[in-house]
Amino acid sequence: MTNDLKLFIELTEFLISQEHEHPVAKPIDVKELHKTLDLNLKDEPIIDSEFATLLKQVIERTPKTASTSFFNQLFGGRLGKAALGDLLAVMLNNSMYTYKVAGPQVGIEKTILYKICEMIGYPKTADGTFAPGGSMSNYMAMLMARDKYDPQARTEGISHKMTLYTSEVSHYSIAKNASFMGIGRNQVRSIKTNGKGEMLAEDLDRQINADLVNGHQPFFVNATAGTTVLGAFDDVGQISETCKKHNLWLHLDGAYCGSVIFSKSYCHLVKGISQTDSFSVNAHKMLGTPLSCSILVTKNKTDLHLSFSNEAEYLYQTDTDDYNLGKTSLQCGRRNDALKLWTLWKSVGSKGLEAIVDHQFEMAKIARNYILNHSDYTLYSFDNSISVCFNYKDVPAQRLCTALYENAKLMVGFGNFKGQDFVRMVTINSLIVEKDVMNFFKTIEEFEISSDN
Ligand SMILES: *Cc1c(COP(=O)(O)O)cnc(C)c1O
Repeated sequence: MTNDLKLFIELTEFLISQEHEHPVAKPIDVKELHKTLDLNLKDEPIIDSEFATLLKQVIERTPKTASTSFFNQLFGGRLGKAALGDLLAVMLNNSMYTYKVAGPQVGIEKTILYKICEMIGYPKTADGTFAPGGSMSNYMAMLMARDKYDPQARTEGISHKMTLYTSEVSHYSIAKNASFMGIGRNQVRSIKTNGKGEMLAEDLDRQINADLVNGHQPFFVNATAGTTVLGAFDDVGQISETCKKHNLWLHLDGAYCGSVIFSKSYCHLVKGISQTDSFSVNAHKMLGTPLSCSILVTKNKTDLHLSFSNEAEYLYQTDTDDYNLGKTSLQCGRRNDALKLWTLWKSVGSKGLEAIVDHQFEMAKIARNYILNHSDYTLYSFDNSISVCFNYKDVPAQRLCTALYENAKLMVGFGNFKGQDFVRMVTINSLIVEKDVMNFFKTIEEFEISSDN
């Protein structure tokens, strides 16, 4: 083990130097992958020196998500204290299902969950869990709602047409989850949005009424805090009124930008959050912990128990249900995803998390201002978002992003809203500074000029 740790440190140092020297790894054409790297598994072991060399080759060619040229997705960067917590979790290797095998780690998870419940104004009856990703947090919320509105579903399956509602620009997991849980994709109603991608409460009300007339059972509404493309925030307060009127479960999918709850300047974007029945947030997005760190909280812990507990004598042998987290989780054996957020939170304090969130909005503002002040660019996204969407000259977004990637210049993706394609740059890596944002635009401009020749 000691030698492995030495090698680990050597490889980590190599990775960090690579991130500086080659912030975008040279991509391997997928057709060439197995010819370029020796990924085959053989009968004989590899010798130690070749093993280290091979690992370095793999590191060299793996996309660098912590570099200051990565603007591609809704995560990025590396916060040392969070990475430390995750590395410790690997070494400790507990499974979070019982207090007996996870001990204080259970307390760490519970502390985070209760703190978040308290921050968003949930009552003392609230509780939560860590799910294996934001899609699965949404799944758990949807299952709790299904079981609340049709308690027989747990034993008999779905017996009638239950309908659920989410905006046309919400995350695709809602439709997938509807199919997993026996509701069916066709029972997902797509609610129209305004010009900024925010769900229209009038259309929600209209579609609920239409389903009621047709004898369906509306049960669940998903609102989004930070839509995947534009980073738009649905009006939770307004939507919650519609949900109360029709007695429906309201979930807030904050996978992307739910972390605004940490910021005094931006928590107004989720005003009304205390009126929701459940809320999810990915700390591996805005808070910058390593993947995955997905939190789901709900107002009544009874709902978590009713949907997810199962007696198992071989597993639950000591302590009370409150500390045997397997009674409220999707999985049986479960990775410790809480420790990395706790080490980060403990080391920077809630004020430090607020600074992380605020910095990302600040960087996005700098990027938007640059675009607005340079006539070669057109802006398509809005204030209060860390997704900066734009086009450069008349270069098609897809062509630009793909060429920047293939030439190892920048990692950035493209998106679409109401028929308009654009580049989507995400300022979620909290380690980037103004210089990196400027460098992003400079790279595009220089690259475009050189490819014109
Ligand atoms: C990222 C995202 C998800 C999915 O989270 P995963 O952890 O990738 O499963 C769900 N909803 C929104 C709005 C997201 O941005």
